[in-house]
Amino acid sequence: MARLSEDKINEIRSRSDIVEVVSKYIPLTKKGKNFVGNCPFHNDHDPSLTVSQDKQIYKCFACGAGGNVFNFVSAYENISFVESVVEVAKHSNIQISDIEIETYQQNPKFVSYYKINQAFIDYTSYILKSSVNNTIVDYLHKRGINDDLIKIFQIGYNPNDNAIYNYLKAKKFSDEEMINANIVRLTSQGLFDVFSTRITIPIHDKHGNPIAFTARRTIESDEAKYINTTETDCYIKGNVLFNYHRALPIAKKLVRVILVEGAMDTIAFYKAQIENVVATLGTACTKEQLKLLKQMNVKICVCYDGDDAGINATYKFGKLASEMGLDFEIVNNKSKLDPDEIIEQFGKDELIALSHKTISWIDFCFEYLQRKYHLENYSQKVEFAKEMKIEIDRIKESFLKENYFKKLYELTQFDMSKSIQTPQYEKRYIKKTHFKYGELAEYEILGQMMLSKQAVNIFKNDLGFLISPVCNQLSLYLINEYRKIDEIQIADLLNQIKEEEVKDLLIDLSDWELAPKELNIQVLNDAISKIHDKCLESRIKEMTELAIKMSNPLDKARIMNEIIELRRSQNKES
Ligand SMILES: [Zn+2]
Repeated sequence: MARLSEDKINEIRSRSDIVEVVSKYIPLTKKGKNFVGNCPFHNDHDPSLTVSQDKQIYKCFACGAGGNVFNFVSAYENISFVESVVEVAKHSNIQISDIEIETYQQNPKFVSYYKINQAFIDYTSYILKSSVNNTIVDYLHKRGINDDLIKIFQIGYNPNDNAIYNYLKAKKFSDEEMINANIVRLTSQGLFDVFSTRITIPIHDKHGNPIAFTARRTIESDEAKYINTTETDCYIKGNVLFNYHRALPIAKKLVRVILVEGAMDTIAFYKAQIENVVATLGTACTKEQLKLLKQMNVKICVCYDGDDAGINATYKFGKLASEMGLDFEIVNNKSKLDPDEIIEQFGKDELIALSHKTISWIDFCFEYLQRKYHLENYSQKVEFAKEMKIEIDRIKESFLKENYFKKLYELTQFDMSKSIQTPQYEKRYIKKTHFKYGELAEYEILGQMMLSKQAVNIFKNDLGFLISPVCNQLSLYLINEYRKIDEIQIADLLNQIKEEEVKDLLIDLSDWELAPKELNIQVLNDAISKIHDKCLESRIKEMTELAIKMSNPLDKARIMNEIIELRRSQNKES
C-alpha cells in the first residue's frame, strides 16, 4: 500500500475546502449554514446530501453515505484512500512531491503483472517490426494503420510455436506468472500461447500501466475474430476504458470525449486525427466505466456502431448514464456502419463530420422507444409515456423539459408534465431519539469527549469503556487522538478510523441535534453512572440466572449474598 504521512494528509485536509471540492463533482446550493445537493451515491431526486463547511464533512440522509473530503472523492471516483488524498491535493493546488505520487500510482500487488505485460509488448512489437512478418505489417497498412499508429498503440504480433512462452521463459518469468497474466494457457497438452498468430494491442489502466491485451486473428479459422485477456487480479474488464490514459489530457482540453465500442474504432478515429476517444471493449458499459467517464468531467459523445446491436448498446448505456447524471449526447449514426467502415467507404472527413452530428438522449429515446412499443396499442402507449416521463424528468433546463413533454403529449395525448412524481427513495431520516449504535448515555459521553480533553480524562478514570462495541471503539479513537492534539477535528479523525460503523457513528454524533455545545461535567457524570448501573444490572441478571440453575443450597446462598451486595452498591451510587 502506498503511504502518505499523517501530517501531510492532515495538511491537505485542512488546506482544502470540502464545499469547493464536492462542488467540482455535483452542484451544491447553500441552505442555512450548510450546502445541499443531489447525492451521487444513490438515485437521488431531491437533494439529500448535506455538506457542512464548519465541520468539513458530508452526510446523505437518504442512503447514509458520509465522511470527509477524502471519503467523498474516494467513493465518487472509486479510488483508494491515498489516491483520493492526491486528487484532493490536485483540486486544491497543493504540491505533493513526485516520489510520493509515484508510490501511489503503482499497486505493488500488480507490479509483476505490469512487468510481464511490458515484456510481452516489447517482444510482440519487435516481432512485428522484424522483416519476417512483413505480411502482418502489410495487412495493417492496408487497413490504414500506419507505422505511427502501430507505435502509439504498441501494436504487436504473437507468432506461433509458443514463441512468447519461450521468450518469457528465457527472460526468467515463471510459468505461474505467465498463466496468472493469461499470456499463456495451461491445457491437458501443456502450456500454450493464448494469443498465438494474433495481432495484439495492449490495454492499460487509467495510469497507463499495461494490464491486458485485445487480439485479432490473422488467419481464417473458427476461433473468435477478437479475443481479450480473461479477467486477472489486475484486469477486471468492466473497470477499464481502452485508451483512457492517452485520451484524458486531450479530452480535458477539448471538453469532450467520444465513447466507442472497440479498440479498432478508437484507432479509426485516430486515423482521422481525433484522439479524445475511449472504448468500452465490449458493448455493455458498466457503472465503473461510467464513473471513469464522469471523472473526466467533460461532455460525453457516444458513437457506437450503427447496427441493431450498437443501437441497443447505446440505449443501455443511456439508461445507466442518465440515471447516474452524466452529461452526454449521441452521435446520430444512421449508416449501420462502424467508424472503421465509415472511413473505408466514405473517407476520414465523413467520420469527422459524423462525430459532430449529435442528438440528445431524449431524442434518441423517442426514436428508440417508438420502435420498442407499439403506440397503436393502448397499454403499450401507457408504458411508452411512463418510460419517456422518467427520462424527461431528469432534464434540468425547464424549457427543454416543457418542449419534450409537449412532444410526448402530441404523440400519446397524455400530459405527463403534471402527473405526480412518486418518490423513489424513502427518506431514512435519523430520528433524534433513535440511537443506532448505543444508548443515549453513551452518545452523551462520546459527545462530551469530542468536545474536551477533560471529559476524556474523567471518562478514563471513572468508566474506561462503553457497552456498545461501536461506541467503545470510538471512545478508544478519541482517547488516542487526544494523545496527539488538544482539540478534535472530526474531518481528520475520520482518516484514522477504519470501521465503517464507527465512522458512521462519528458523523451521526457530529450532526446530533442534542449534542452538547460545551463541556458539562454534571451531564457527563450522570451518563457515566447510568452506564455503571447498566453494567451492574446486567451482572445482577447474570448472577440471578446462575443462582436459579444451582442445586447446592450453600452455593445458591453465596450467590444471593453477592447479589444483595451489588444491589447495595447500586443504591449507594444513585
Ligand atoms: Zn445518498
